Amino acid sequence: MENRTPPQYDVVIVGGGPAGLSAALMLGRSRRRVLVVDEGRPRNRFAGHMHGVLGRDHTSPLELLAEGRRELGRYDGVELREGSVVGAAPTPTPTATATATATAETGTEPTGFRVELDDGATVTARRLLVTSGLRDELPAVPGLAELWGRGVFVCPYCDGWEVRDGRIAVLAGEQPNPHQAQLMRQLSDEVVFLTGGRPIDETTRSGLLARGIRIEERPLARVASDADGELVALELADGEAVPVDALFVAPGPAPLDGLLRSLGAEHTEHPMGGSFVVVDAMGRTNVPGLWAAGNVTDPRSSVPFAMAGGNFTGAAMNAALVEEEIAAALAARERMEAWTSS
Ligand SMILES: Cc1cc2nc3c(=O)[nH]c(=O)nc-3n(C[C@H](O)[C@H](O)[C@H](O)COP(=O)(O)OP(=O)(O)OC[C@H]3O[C@@H](n4cnc5c(N)ncnc54)[C@H](O)[C@@H]3O)c2cc1C
Repeated sequence: MENRTPPQYDVVIVGGGPAGLSAALMLGRSRRRVLVVDEGRPRNRFAGHMHGVLGRDHTSPLELLAEGRRELGRYDGVELREGSVVGAAPTPTPTATATATATAETGTEPTGFRVELDDGATVTARRLLVTSGLRDELPAVPGLAELWGRGVFVCPYCDGWEVRDGRIAVLAGEQPNPHQAQLMRQLSDEVVFLTGGRPIDETTRSGLLARGIRIEERPLARVASDADGELVALELADGEAVPVDALFVAPGPAPLDGLLRSLGAEHTEHPMGGSFVVVDAMGRTNVPGLWAAGNVTDPRSSVPFAMAGGNFTGAAMNAALVEEEIAAALAARERMEAWTSS
């Protein structure tokens, strides 16, 4: 039997990080009914301060999100819920009108979604936006994970300035990352590149040595911290301790995209590692009605980049809903004209 109950929301957003909240802001400002479900584990929650975010440089990433949630309180169509989305499935198109007038985001739109939350609740939406971010798979070196975001970092632009002129180490990752050492050389004279036993080609080697970057080929055995939990040294396999102020690594990016994949979203290998769901310039996946933005689609995303992606995708989703509403209004008018002339 055809489902004629309208969906509860225009858009459900999975994830309330910078991307998800920015999308909610654009949709809320367009008087859309939006539910943001967020389990509250943003990627940069390990860092006390974030950097390179204009107007918010050196502030807490959690405070940025708290402020974003406060701002969304101005928009009565936006609802924020703590929790996890644990599943989603396409639903039949909600009304006969919509079926007849399905326009054309992808040729087969619209498809609604039934979304399951971890508290057992189920909600329905015309569209689904996934902004669930990614998990950093850290090198398996004892002591390293404990210092993640506080002595062990990923991004020279995010955390390099704070350790300028310090003793900097860069650990080679699965994806080639000597450029991290070269970027850090911009900030300090004392940079060492640890190959971690990985081969290093001659061009890379000579480029590092030419700029005074030391190359350390002995394996890294342990990352040592003091009683206050501050990074102090890197212990090499032969027992020598190299004192350092910061260690930069290249974690494996693991997108939190189980929901997208379960709905059939296509993905592809990313040059920086990992396999990421493919979206077009607007944030649309290959699955009708399913959109994605932020780090779940791209490992390079910074906070401003994630905010821009969410902002743009939120606006594009609103425009796509407007297209659908134009078609529905035209179809309703045609039916009315046919009825009055019969
Ligand atoms: C240590 C560290 C420091 C960083 N420092 C900086 C910096 O200084 N400057 C900068 O610009 N960038 C920095 N970054 C990068 C920044 O963290 C990311 O670019 C940004 O968080 C991406 O935003 P996002 O909205 O895509 O994802 P996230 O911020 O990761 O948000 C995703 C949200 O979705 C939630 N979620 C996931 N799955 C579900 C689900 N099934 N149901 C409900 N909710 C779900 C998560 O819990 C999370 O709250 C740093 C990253 C790291 C690791």
